[in-house]
Amino acid sequence: MKKISMVIPMYYEEEVANECYKRVKKNLLELKNYEHEIIFINDGSKDKTLDILEEIAKKDNNVKVISFSRNFGHQAAVTSGLKHTSGDLSIIMDADMQDPPEVIKDMIKLWEEGNEVIYAKRKRREGESEFKLYTAKVFYKILNGLSDVEIPRDTGDFRLADRKVVDVINQLGEHNKFLRGLFSWVGFKQVPFEYERKERVGGKTKYSLSKMMKLAIDGIISFSTKPLRIIGGIGLLSILISIIILIYSIVSYIFKLNDLTSGWTSIMVAVTFFAGVQLTSLWLMSEYIARIYDESKGRPEYIIDKKINME
Ligand code: UDP
Ligand code: MG
Repeated sequence: MKKISMVIPMYYEEEVANECYKRVKKNLLELKNYEHEIIFINDGSKDKTLDILEEIAKKDNNVKVISFSRNFGHQAAVTSGLKHTSGDLSIIMDADMQDPPEVIKDMIKLWEEGNEVIYAKRKRREGESEFKLYTAKVFYKILNGLSDVEIPRDTGDFRLADRKVVDVINQLGEHNKFLRGLFSWVGFKQVPFEYERKERVGGKTKYSLSKMMKLAIDGIISFSTKPLRIIGGIGLLSILISIIILIYSIVSYIFKLNDLTSGWTSIMVAVTFFAGVQLTSLWLMSEYIARIYDESKGRPEYIIDKKINME
């Protein structure tokens, strides 16, 4: 019998944990030809999330729990979950039921047809702010403009991946992962699957603005070095502009076209503008350097405090 592995990260999800388990379990039991395991990752929540998961794991041997020593972030939680899967296929899903477990069977149908990655594409999104929808749109535009691999729009981490693909992903050792990008990057036979993204069944989003920003920067930096080349382009352009101004000044001086001494405003604007450009360029470079530094320390991506129902 083939086996399904569910990977579900949780960060302060006491309000949804029980319902999540119930709905996922119900949908898995409907798939008569498959065995299953459900791997929950407690990403350092300090509320009742872990207690609830322990309670569930006591009654259900197919439920496995990994608990982190602190919050390491969603991407690290999913990474660790994938490392512990034993199924022929793995499905990554959010705990808040925004990704409805009712569509699992349709995704599996696509897998049975020979597809190796089935990525869920959001047809419509309920209950998300205009701000989030707009920033997401702009982000994917920028990302795809910069990156060499095509990263599908309106796609989160909700996806099904074949064992073969999961094994490849598990071998990638990089930190600050942008998983949805890596899944595109590895290739294999991929198809989209459209679904309606629901509202959270309880609690609030755990992706703060700063977490979203970090993910966006990780996405761009780990998939493109173009920003570095753009800095070079801006530098060359500035040199060109300054040469044009120089020629203009000389010509003005010789032919007495303009009185160039009254230039306070233009000088101040030029000085502050280019100070800004330089500092922004430095910041951009620092983001790359910070990631090199992170990798070179060789610390683990996450620390596991406790495992339940697994060796
Ligand atoms: N999550 C996590 N660690 C974090 C933040 C989020 O494991 O540091 C989990 C969270 O519990 C949920 C999933 O990642 O299962 C997606 O988070 P959320 O629903 O808050 O994000 P949104 O859907 O609002 O983008
Ligand atoms: Mg959510």
